[in-house]
Amino acid sequence: MVAKQAFVPPTFGDCMPAPDTPLPLHSHSALIIIGTGMAGIGLARALRRQGDTRTITLVSADSGDDYSKPLLSTGFAKRLTPDQLAQRSAREVAEELNAELITHTQVVQLHVDNRRITLGNGHQLHYDDLVLATGAAPRMPFNVPENVAKRCFTVNDLDEYRRFHTTLASAPARVAIVGAGLVGCEFANDLHAGGHQVTLIAPESTPLPRLLPEPLGQTLSNAFQAAGIQLALGRTLQTLTLAPDNALSLRLDNGDRYAADIALLATGLTPRSELAEAAGLAVSRSGIMVDRQLRTSQPNIFALGDVACVEGVNAMYVQPLQASVKALASTLSGTPTNVSFGAWPVLVKTALLPVVAYPPATTPARWRIEGEGSEMTAIAENKDGRLIGFALTGGCVRRKVELSRVAPALLG
Ligand SMILES: Cc1cc2nc3c(=O)[nH]c(=O)nc-3n(C[C@H](O)[C@H](O)[C@H](O)COP(=O)(O)OP(=O)(O)OC[C@H]3O[C@@H](n4cnc5c(N)ncnc54)[C@H](O)[C@@H]3O)c2cc1C
Repeated sequence: MVAKQAFVPPTFGDCMPAPDTPLPLHSHSALIIIGTGMAGIGLARALRRQGDTRTITLVSADSGDDYSKPLLSTGFAKRLTPDQLAQRSAREVAEELNAELITHTQVVQLHVDNRRITLGNGHQLHYDDLVLATGAAPRMPFNVPENVAKRCFTVNDLDEYRRFHTTLASAPARVAIVGAGLVGCEFANDLHAGGHQVTLIAPESTPLPRLLPEPLGQTLSNAFQAAGIQLALGRTLQTLTLAPDNALSLRLDNGDRYAADIALLATGLTPRSELAEAAGLAVSRSGIMVDRQLRTSQPNIFALGDVACVEGVNAMYVQPLQASVKALASTLSGTPTNVSFGAWPVLVKTALLPVVAYPPATTPARWRIEGEGSEMTAIAENKDGRLIGFALTGGCVRRKVELSRVAPALLG
């Protein structure tokens, strides 16, 4: 069953009473999952797969549609509409999982003493176990002026992608991307492949600064430039204004100006740990602190996915998330299970130059760099000469399996 709620005014579906009606408390074990991303839906699915029959309620601030977030940065090249990216609607997810899905609804408070959560509309729900799968929010590099806000986008979920896609669907556009991390670079490649004119702006001198040592970053820069993507690297954005011709005008710290129809802000993500923090749970800058069983500082509250920092590690990638889903499903079903993260490299979806990277957890003593042109291998070594990370471009990406085997696990 799905209870759908619109933003304004709220509407109440088949399993959602009006706001002044007190909600019944679940009489038997009730699990509430906040978030319907890969972590939230993945966990509910894993529980059902192993035969767990408890009452499951998922609450989501977004549409609750089931989609694969990594595909968002491949949609323009593949000519996929947002609806094609949604694998299942919220209603289908609810039916498949025999769960209640409350969509377009924020959870605004956790009450750890009496095990309740408060929704944005004032309703309270009781839980026996609570899972926080609230993901991470796009970080805004500056206050976006109101008169240009409609032309500035972040794309971190399907709803945001729908708005972005709708704006770009009608005609080729000039898109300025601010930020050259994984999301910025993948969208630069994808929007370029989709026929748009792309400018990539970032303060670092080469793209993917957290994944690639400079020579390999330069290789990616070369591939982008050769394809016609305009680069303004080593530069920070100073102002974002509306020009007399109604174009966006981006002025950089060296005085250069770029004109664009829209801007995509891809300047990093911050774990959404405010709810946990306000409820007194232990959090750090890297997210909600959890142990190997994904348990927060409150015994019956768990966290996983982009919001969770597992013994100091918050990778914000799919493989650690999936390992967490599996471990937590077992723990919740009565078999306490510790999660481990292997040496799982990141596959960056830049078709102009394939990139695979497993960044070292600590600053390497040196990078050993081999290859030429677009075929580069970089090995990060510690002071004893042991491999602690690697980065590969072009045809060298095929070495990922061999190098992953000797790399230390992310969380062994
Ligand atoms: C464009 C892009 C491409 C990517 N590509 C890759 C890739 O190729 N490989 C890879 O490994 N990883 C990739 N990632 C990262 C990966 O997709 C994420 O790590 C993963 O999807 C995170 O899932 P999540 O469920 O933790 O968070 P999210 O998907 O962010 O879900 C969070 C959920 O919580 C809900 N929520 C938040 N706060 C509240 C609240 N207060 N009340 C109610 N609901 C709330 C949200 O509405 C949402 O449903 C990519 C990320 C992006 C943005």
